[in-house]
Amino acid sequence: MSLKKPINLRNTLAFRLTLWYAGIFTVSSCVAFLLFYTLITSFIRERTDQELLSQVNRFSTLLAAEGVEAVEGVAVVEAQAAGVKKVFFRFLSLNGQAFSSSNMSYWKDILISETAIKELLRGNSPVFETIAVRDRNEEVRVLYAMISPSIILQVGQAMESYSRFLDAFKGIFITTMSFLIVLAAGVGWFMARRAVSGVEAVTRTAQKISGGTLDERVPVKARGDEIDQLATTFNQMLDRIQTLLTEIKEISDNIAHDLRSPITRIRGIAEVTLTTGKSLNDYENMAASTIEECDRLLDMINTMLMISKTESGADQLSHDEIDLAALVREACELFKPTAEDKGISLSLDIPKPIHFIGDIQMVQRMISNLLDNAIKYTPSGGSVTVFMNENDTQVVISIKDTGCGISSKDLPRVFERFYRCDQSRSQSGIGLGLSLARAIARAHGGDITADSLPNQGSTFTVILPKSLPSVS
Ligand code: ADP
Repeated sequence: MSLKKPINLRNTLAFRLTLWYAGIFTVSSCVAFLLFYTLITSFIRERTDQELLSQVNRFSTLLAAEGVEAVEGVAVVEAQAAGVKKVFFRFLSLNGQAFSSSNMSYWKDILISETAIKELLRGNSPVFETIAVRDRNEEVRVLYAMISPSIILQVGQAMESYSRFLDAFKGIFITTMSFLIVLAAGVGWFMARRAVSGVEAVTRTAQKISGGTLDERVPVKARGDEIDQLATTFNQMLDRIQTLLTEIKEISDNIAHDLRSPITRIRGIAEVTLTTGKSLNDYENMAASTIEECDRLLDMINTMLMISKTESGADQLSHDEIDLAALVREACELFKPTAEDKGISLSLDIPKPIHFIGDIQMVQRMISNLLDNAIKYTPSGGSVTVFMNENDTQVVISIKDTGCGISSKDLPRVFERFYRCDQSRSQSGIGLGLSLARAIARAHGGDITADSLPNQGSTFTVILPKSLPSVS
């Protein structure tokens, strides 16, 4: 069954990113245009007003110097020179009646505003008006101002050239913007596709993995960006899953193997007893052997359960206050007879009591496993020495033997579940002792390390914090 579902383009991240990008670009450009447009419009208006006011000043000076007729003449000539469609002048008496003007044939629509005159007479300061001439679709800026105590000048200027400029500006803006929006959407789409291509690679790999190929990895482009980090993390997760799966497979193979041997032996003994056993003694021997094999099986199963429980965290441990030095000393005392039987000297170098908080049973089990191994893998005539040291926060326990040692190939693997070195297969054991010991040390917030040279001996070093890590 195909895992790929048809993707609706509108639902894609790239599409939405492009839309946002183009949208933000358009809105910000329009805001910038509006601001610019308002600024230009008010600048143009101010300039026009300045020009109209300077006309008024000129006319009032001329009026004072040369009289009404001269001013009227100048107005006619000046309107003619500037262009009759551009400027007009009207001279009004205080009641708003026009008594003279420049050529007004083009400006018939521009009436005399009573309101403006009243306002002018009330306030005596110039009054501006903007009049829209609908037929010609143009605007005229008009100023009313006193040029003498009895004469009002109405001067008007067409805003047409400015409106043309603003219209051209609007046109250029709209054309450029349309082009830029298309360009921005294109660039946005390209960038978004580039950004999400890494995510797509992760998705494709995940799809292949769901199809059953755990060997696939996401290509890392070494750009150092977030997508690379995602790909690296995803690949690391896959490595971890693959390692775990391999470990689980190895462990289940080992469990199957280690369960099969005792069960085969139990079955063999029972079969032989049934076919050849005649006496009660034969049946008693069979029962004893069965119990022995079952004990081995139970021991293995219990150890596995204990490793799992211990690995699940420090909250599984009891907080006993103990003298760790005394505990190690007692453990050594228990192993002394075994060591003596094998002709091995077991010595201790433990200076003084060491206060420690931890799970007494677990720690006992850990020390016993390490001592048991040291004696088991040391031949007769060898020695096992136990050292203890402490600082303010940690305790170090070293168990050193002069036994068969561990090869550099095996050394990194001895803490794995069920791992047994080839040369020790002749000894009893199921390969769980060191796994449990390390799980116990780690649950206490510490660890175990191993140093060894083949045929020279091994040293297992346990480092434990003096009290258990706090459980959150
Ligand atoms: P086992 O039940 O086989 O002793 P362990 O987990 O305790 O299992 O140890 C795993 C393997 O590590 C052993 O089979 C042995 O090969 C090796 N080993 C452990 N301790 C020692 C030691 N002190 N000297 C040499 N080899 C050791």
